Amino acid sequence: SSVFVVRGLAKTYVMGEVSVPALQDVDLDLYSGELVVLLGPSGSGKSTLLNILGGLDRASAGEVVCDGWNLTRAGDRELTAFRREVVGFVFQFYNLIPSLTARENVAIVTEIAADPMAPHEALDLVGLGGRLDHFPAQLSGGEQQRVAIARAIAKRPRVLLCDEPTGALDSSTGVIVLQVLERINRELGTTTAVITHNAGIAAMADRVVQMSDGRIQSIRENGSRLAPS
Ligand code: ADP
Ligand code: ADP
Repeated sequence: SSVFVVRGLAKTYVMGEVSVPALQDVDLDLYSGELVVLLGPSGSGKSTLLNILGGLDRASAGEVVCDGWNLTRAGDRELTAFRREVVGFVFQFYNLIPSLTARENVAIVTEIAADPMAPHEALDLVGLGGRLDHFPAQLSGGEQQRVAIARAIAKRPRVLLCDEPTGALDSSTGVIVLQVLERINRELGTTTAVITHNAGIAAMADRVVQMSDGRIQSIRENGSRLAPS
């Protein structure tokens, strides 16, 4: 079944007299439990698409529906509720609160969720069960990103949206972060979309969506998905 149904999606950024077409004619389904990788050159519309899926930005035309939430018709309050209840986000920069420990950074989210994991459970899932009381400055970049992933999954989101989660990491650390995302998808069944520049990680995905000039150029199925190595 489809978690997301996207039809005829278009997005144009208007800045004064200049219009930038960022997405055109995008049709896409995200199926329950799958892991999708979005590839494409800089400026091809990947972040714009992910932001619209996550209710961070609005479409200019078309329809985006997620589990009965119609994002194209939702008001601001409904979009805020959608982001809070349905979506986990992971970005390139970890946005952890420096004065809080790993456990406390995760607890911020679990305190307002309906059916959250315990913070230590989420941190265990990302391999940081031994770093619960470390502050962000005491953790490596890869570990900080894993805390950010724990924070994103602790509320048990329906979908996990990741925008270049390895963009600030060296390649071997990036692989560890991708392995964590792959394992979470497999073990929790969280529908996951990951933007990356690294075509080498496509092997971990169920499907690879290739974007170009604001359009979906191709969608490739991967019948024999592997953990990245
Ligand atoms: P990608 O994630 O593939 O690098 P983006 O979705 O960020 O692509 O950008 C798609 C296009 O939209 C680009 O031409 C970019 O310059 C433009 N764009 C993105 N965000 C904005 C914005 N906030 N205002 C104006 N133009 C934007
Ligand atoms: P990674 O390959 O994940 O980036 P590093 O090799 O950078 O990991 O770090 C290895 C270990 O050193 C980690 O377990 C981390 O907790 C610790 N560490 C890294 N930076 C710091 C720091 N500034 N203060 C204390 N411990 C650190």
